[in-house]
Amino acid sequence: MKNMVLSERVGKIKPSATMAITAKAKALKAEGIDIIGFGAGEPDFDTPDFVKEAAIDALRAGKTKYTPGAGIPELRDALCESFRQDEGLDYKRGETIISSGGKHALYNIFQAILSDGDEVIIPIPYWVSFPDQVLLAGGIPVFLNTREEQGFSFSVEDLEKLITPKTRAVVINSPSNPSGAALGEDLLRDILKLAVERDIYVIWDEIYKKIYYGQGKLRSLPALYPEGRDNVLVCGGLSKAYSMTGWRIGWTLGHSKVISAMSMIQGQSTSNPTSFAQYGALAALRKGTEHIGPWLTAFRERRDILLEGFTKIEGASCAKPEGAFYVFPNISCWFGKQWDKGVIKDSYDAAAYLLEHAKVAVVPGEPFGSPENIRLSYALSTDDARKGMNRIIEASEALRP
Ligand code: GLU
Repeated sequence: MKNMVLSERVGKIKPSATMAITAKAKALKAEGIDIIGFGAGEPDFDTPDFVKEAAIDALRAGKTKYTPGAGIPELRDALCESFRQDEGLDYKRGETIISSGGKHALYNIFQAILSDGDEVIIPIPYWVSFPDQVLLAGGIPVFLNTREEQGFSFSVEDLEKLITPKTRAVVINSPSNPSGAALGEDLLRDILKLAVERDIYVIWDEIYKKIYYGQGKLRSLPALYPEGRDNVLVCGGLSKAYSMTGWRIGWTLGHSKVISAMSMIQGQSTSNPTSFAQYGALAALRKGTEHIGPWLTAFRERRDILLEGFTKIEGASCAKPEGAFYVFPNISCWFGKQWDKGVIKDSYDAAAYLLEHAKVAVVPGEPFGSPENIRLSYALSTDDARKGMNRIIEASEALRP
């Protein structure tokens, strides 16, 4: 072929930095190199056995054929039931859709609601795939600055200033990947009230809702202001709270008009999420998240190891995350410093230095919109968290002015 043309759409996006680092760390480990992986947002715990058993039973029972594109009715109903019990919200089956992971759910949301040139407001730092998914749907990401010293929060006025006639949606991911920040209930309520007033959607990504270290539990956005529920597209999944990253089960709850559009998109693209994975998901949703207590204890311990570690690095700072399993320290104190192979100029160089010199995989902050930070996932063993943090401290001390 002489002229191998790719689409303009593809030209607008870049590879996922989280997926790239995870793949690289796994490949180096497979070569026998002792890498400590703070890269992947993937819990080290195994999927609970009862979920696996349910999927195995489904396979044995021949549940290996197409299912309805939007998911098996029992799973959609179980999702409604879990929202009724946990949040007091009454969603109907037609207001739910099961997708192949939370990422797929978000992708379909953007495809369903955006036309060319529509704007989507995304607070910084953001999960790497939000802007690129908006671009793939023909939209324009508009970034909202937050204050690191205030736990990466912002005010509703900051948000309002960015709304234009082209604005279709704001994305709120709380607790946040990559910062772990959980926005306060008053701010969330105000965001939703503003969205109602200005007739825009809130894409509420609550994939880390159950991974929270504060008092009480985190609520789903529509439960905080039920009058605004039609403006909210609730997006979640099983990857994090059930350690089911490879199963690819996510979902959306929202107005039936958007759900039907997503269902149509799914019908013309992927069809149903994997049949037997849906049966595993059904068992997971019916049983709830009792298993998560010990996981949270372990995550908290690892988080504290990292937070304490970064206090030992002069000039670095690290906001205390209240949820998810990431820390997002500011390491700009390393910029301008030297190692054998050159000067650290940015977060990419910092991540490359840590990988090569300290054998520690982290994700640079740049693809999250924060060039002075790096992201560390502490969904790895506690021993590795300790060992890896020590390596980072030593690497910091080895840098020359
Ligand atoms: N969400 C996880 C992360 O940020 C998994 C990788 C991805 O899908 O981006 O590490």
